Amino acid sequence: MAVYDNDMSFENRIVTPEYTGGDGEGELSLRPRSLSEYIGQDKAKENLSVYIEAAKKRGEALDHVLLYGPPGLGKTTLSGIIANEMGVNLRVTSGPAIERPGDLAALLTNLAEGDLLFIDEIHRLNRSVEEVLYPAMEDYALDIIIGKGPSARSIRIDLPRFTLVGATTRAGGLSAPLRDRFGVILRLELYTPDQLAQIILRSAQILEIPCDQEGAQELAARSRGTPRVANRLLKRVRDFAQVVGDGRITREIVDHALDRLAIDRLGLDDQDRRILSAIIQLYGGGPVGLETLAAAVGEEAVTIEDIYEPYLMQIGFLSRTPRGRCVTPAGYEHLGLRPPVIQESSQQLSLLEEE
Ligand code: ADP
Repeated sequence: MAVYDNDMSFENRIVTPEYTGGDGEGELSLRPRSLSEYIGQDKAKENLSVYIEAAKKRGEALDHVLLYGPPGLGKTTLSGIIANEMGVNLRVTSGPAIERPGDLAALLTNLAEGDLLFIDEIHRLNRSVEEVLYPAMEDYALDIIIGKGPSARSIRIDLPRFTLVGATTRAGGLSAPLRDRFGVILRLELYTPDQLAQIILRSAQILEIPCDQEGAQELAARSRGTPRVANRLLKRVRDFAQVVGDGRITREIVDHALDRLAIDRLGLDDQDRRILSAIIQLYGGGPVGLETLAAAVGEEAVTIEDIYEPYLMQIGFLSRTPRGRCVTPAGYEHLGLRPPVIQESSQQLSLLEEE
């Protein structure tokens, strides 16, 4: 049973990195269309630009690409950019949308030579669909069984050479045979506040929202390393700027708006604070196992892992040890609590255990 009331499931949070209906406004115009417009992720961009150029020189389809990292970091955007740079069509679908092998066969046989097929949440493909994907990725062919019983026979249909771009939150969530069929595996990282400030200024310009540098920096610091959150907060703060200010987004307006939305200086909301407090109050600061923590705060374990933890770890408030999750001294201090001395020694102990 949940120890805390859980009226704010992660879908309803304003800082959720997942796509919500309200993100629709300007979404298309906000998506960068070329690698040079795509801010940050330098390592992934450098590698991709080499692979794209080489594939273009050889006149071949790009190798299959797996993008992994927390939601809202730009995986869909990047797949659109790859298609643009390669000069091919983009088809977008997702793991849960492809229910039967026939659905995938229909998608694949409709592709043109060189096309890019983007499958979001590819870890959620079911087994029978995955098996159709293996020969498609490897040999550009489909094996179809026609008929039933003794008269059944298998025929092979050739497919155009296409590029599959798969997106997932964790590369480890994919079955090994599927993961092995991607030639390029790229990890996307949370963005730094400076990169997010650039993204915010770019979005503000596109949406024609007046925003000064300090306002953008303040908003960036509270956007949890995630462009989707940054763009969403920008639109919400614009409302406050128009009602309580002169329409301009400044540091004061950002402070005022985000205080009203209960998002603190580092972008944490009530649910983040509940997770940290649960570990502190119920488990002495940790270590506590993921499942136990999930039950205590009334969230799914995968939600904690994919949605909350990446940012709490990035800002150094939460650590993963072999025995479970721990709140760090910085996490205690952020909540206005004094870290117990025993916390440090138990962390040292777990560090020793790791060695
Ligand atoms: P994901 O597929 O990883 O969940 P998206 O590609 O849908 O994320 O990106 C979410 C939003 O963030 C989009 O509106 C996009 O415009 C913006 N965005 C993502 N990455 C960048 C970037 N590097 N530069 C500018 N905007 C970005």
